[in-house]
Amino acid sequence: MREYLKFYIDGQWVDPIEPKTTNVINPATEEASGSISLGSTADVEKAVAAARRAFASWSQTSREERLELLLAIQAEYHKRMGELGEAVVEEMGAPSALGNGFHVGLGAGHLAAAIDSLRTFQFEEQRGATLVVKEPIGVCALITPWNWPMNQTTVKIFPALATGCTMILKPPQLAPYSAHILAEILHMAGVPAGVFNMVQGSGSVIGTALSTHPEVDMISFTGSESVGVEIAKNAAPGVKRVCQELGGKSAHIVLDDANLAANVAAATAGMMVNSGQTCSAGARLLVPASRLEEAVAAAKQAAEGVTVGDPKGDFAMGPVVSKGQYTDIQRYIELGISEGARLIAGGPGRPDGLAKGFYVKPTVFVTTNDKTIAREEIFGPVLVIIAYDDIDHAIEIANDSPFGLAGYVVGADAAQCNAVARRMRTGWVSINGGFDFQAPFGGYKKSGNGREWGEFGFHEYLEIKSLLGFAPAG
Ligand code: NAP
Ligand code: MG
Repeated sequence: MREYLKFYIDGQWVDPIEPKTTNVINPATEEASGSISLGSTADVEKAVAAARRAFASWSQTSREERLELLLAIQAEYHKRMGELGEAVVEEMGAPSALGNGFHVGLGAGHLAAAIDSLRTFQFEEQRGATLVVKEPIGVCALITPWNWPMNQTTVKIFPALATGCTMILKPPQLAPYSAHILAEILHMAGVPAGVFNMVQGSGSVIGTALSTHPEVDMISFTGSESVGVEIAKNAAPGVKRVCQELGGKSAHIVLDDANLAANVAAATAGMMVNSGQTCSAGARLLVPASRLEEAVAAAKQAAEGVTVGDPKGDFAMGPVVSKGQYTDIQRYIELGISEGARLIAGGPGRPDGLAKGFYVKPTVFVTTNDKTIAREEIFGPVLVIIAYDDIDHAIEIANDSPFGLAGYVVGADAAQCNAVARRMRTGWVSINGGFDFQAPFGGYKKSGNGREWGEFGFHEYLEIKSLLGFAPAG
């Protein structure tokens, strides 16, 4: 059992002001794996005050000082990747290979990208007689979800540190362990007191206290649309900057000249990674209508080939994170059936042989883009296949969504793939499997505001100041 009862405030591990704890449930066993403290607004007051005090000096550090700190963090991070991986497996049910692989690898990737960007980032630019200076925005509240816990904490903390901001992290109650270990890593690496603070607790208490706090300058949030909207409303009277990375219902377009069976199989297996709990998942698979049955056969075989079981074992897919998510996903699967979608793999209930744990069957439907299961984010291992008549039709379907986070295009003709990718109204499009830690990541439409990852992620944490009549030196 893990007992992570302290918060990290002003460079020290401290007890909550009012003791209150909650159990963390292992989604594979439905039993408690440990407990955390639930903070109060008084803990937030302490953390924000520490971050405000630390900002005075941290904001004045040089690029070299911050680089040195990030390199020290990198050394500590690499020492403890195994522990971080185990924590992710236990807290949110990622299969061991995924938790120890991509989950912690994303954190390492964001750290390396922040280091690379900091080496060369242009904090100042002389434009005629004006010097444009980019300065840290101040005290930042980082509010993160449970689905890729290491990705979402690191993609915020490292650019915030690199740009000279101070911060308070509010990790998710469902997946709080990896964030606690990350705070230990930052402490061991020598992050100065007050620069990084962490308070655990509920979103409604800690998240609201941060979003409304007059001494918080900026909020970086990843999670659901409803909470993103509430944070923005809470932050509005204080005129805070709010960066939101919200949901998606991204299209994965298989072009006519692609190897259809192989690409459909890969897209189907890809949808099931992390039990489908990925904001940028290619949840709508668009295939040529003339080859729909070929696609159905390939998707069925791929979905049925996804092994599901104990995250500590050798399975492709573990459970979903919580009973709440399990119930929501089951509701969507029932809805798909009642809406008349054609179920070709999976369906309601747990996979055979799994009586306990929040396990969902890898599920595939064929449907049309007007149906609820094609419009709303299910956040589970549920793929919908939609047939298109021609390229214009494929793009029309892809863009007919309230979201605009990601997109995927696969095909043999590079020029055609590029042309399709250009016409997609989303913040990020992967062409034939492209992936890049320096590519800005974020959404159009209801998928959010702002961009994270790499150098573009720095801008969220910077104010821009013009010094007019600034004579260049020399
Ligand atoms: P969520 O409710 O949006 O939670 C995300 C974070 O916000 C958590 O740390 C949460 O705290 C906190 N929070 C909750 N209410 C808050 C408030 N009023 N003010 C400030 N912070 C608040 O997401 P969820 O419940 O974990 O997942 C629900 C749905 O969100 C999913 O089904 C999925 O559709 C979507 N989602 C999207 C992403 C993404 O990457 N875009 C990630 C996760 C979830 P707690 O610890 O109390 O939960
Ligand atoms: Mg919630």
